[in-house]
Amino acid sequence: MRFNNMYNKDKIKNSLTLEQVYEFVVDLGGEPIIKENYFISRTICHNPPGFGSYKLYYYNNTKLFKCFTDCGDSFDIFQLVCKVKNQTIEDKTAQWQLNNAIMYVARYFGFSNENFDFSNNKDNLHDWEILNKYDENNLVKQQQIIDLKVFDKNILKYLPHPNITPWELEGIDDKVMCEHDIAYNPISQSIIIPHYDINNNLIGIRERTLVKEQEQYGKYRPAILNRQMYNHPLSFNLYNLNNSKDNIKIIKKAIVFEGEKSPLLYASYFGSDRDISVACCGSSLIWYQVQLLLSLGVEEIIVAFDKQFQAIGDNEFKRWIKKLTDIYKKYSSFVTISFMFDKWNLLDYKMSPIDNGKETFIELYNRRFSLEEN
Ligand SMILES: [Zn+2]
Repeated sequence: MRFNNMYNKDKIKNSLTLEQVYEFVVDLGGEPIIKENYFISRTICHNPPGFGSYKLYYYNNTKLFKCFTDCGDSFDIFQLVCKVKNQTIEDKTAQWQLNNAIMYVARYFGFSNENFDFSNNKDNLHDWEILNKYDENNLVKQQQIIDLKVFDKNILKYLPHPNITPWELEGIDDKVMCEHDIAYNPISQSIIIPHYDINNNLIGIRERTLVKEQEQYGKYRPAILNRQMYNHPLSFNLYNLNNSKDNIKIIKKAIVFEGEKSPLLYASYFGSDRDISVACCGSSLIWYQVQLLLSLGVEEIIVAFDKQFQAIGDNEFKRWIKKLTDIYKKYSSFVTISFMFDKWNLLDYKMSPIDNGKETFIELYNRRFSLEEN
């Protein structure tokens, strides 16, 4: 007896690292502050994103949240999602149920049904969360789960567009910043980065603080403008795809960077009319994002992640290789997956392949490889 359409709720929950849950809560608008083995967030469980006091704790050892004010109880990541989503849904019948939340979290972190083999676990079936409702016949429902809120673009009109000197010095063209609606928020002293979906809808706004002391809350955070937080689930989009989609369709290749700045640099070096880059805005590439690229007919996905190791063979290197191998295993039967991988020490630690100039990027691009050959 095999079940194909289910996720194991506890397996997902227990596999999530503190950093993963932290990022998830950033996207939900909790503005969390990370500590040793826990983090503290604003009480998004009963307040809108960006508001509420720092009374919501998440403990990595128990994988549970505890709200010390209104909720006053403990709950897991799935219950948190229900609490957050249901604050704005008055119609009880339309509210998020546990199953919707499991689907959302599973998708967000890139779990797919086939991650779980249930064939040897018949005895534990009562523990498994069965999501038969969400099988292939129910794609519409799945889509609703990850439907992104669309914001009014008018908010961007009121923001100044001064020269962003720190980014210009790094090589990003003023014209490219304009094309991407990069602006400045004088109140928070941050660079404003609007995020659009593939159809040019404004689905979120992030900001990069220029205040050193603010970096403890994260260099990049959802922007708050006019008392509204413009947070969005970063995993359910690819930054810059609205700009590069037509070129990607023609060339049938896409370069996937981690951070937003890399596509801006790419367009600065090679021209917006030749841009085939996107950013996944994290260090994982999830199935949902791969599907976005497959929908454009890509034949090759070039993974151009930041160099996350100091020396070949160190522990970070091993973890990094494992991560790339996982990406390869997961998607290589659908599309060619190649890697821009700095074996030659052309980049410094944590640099994106495009951070060391055009020549280095071209070099790494030409030397990109697929794991089969190595
Ligand atoms: Zn609460």
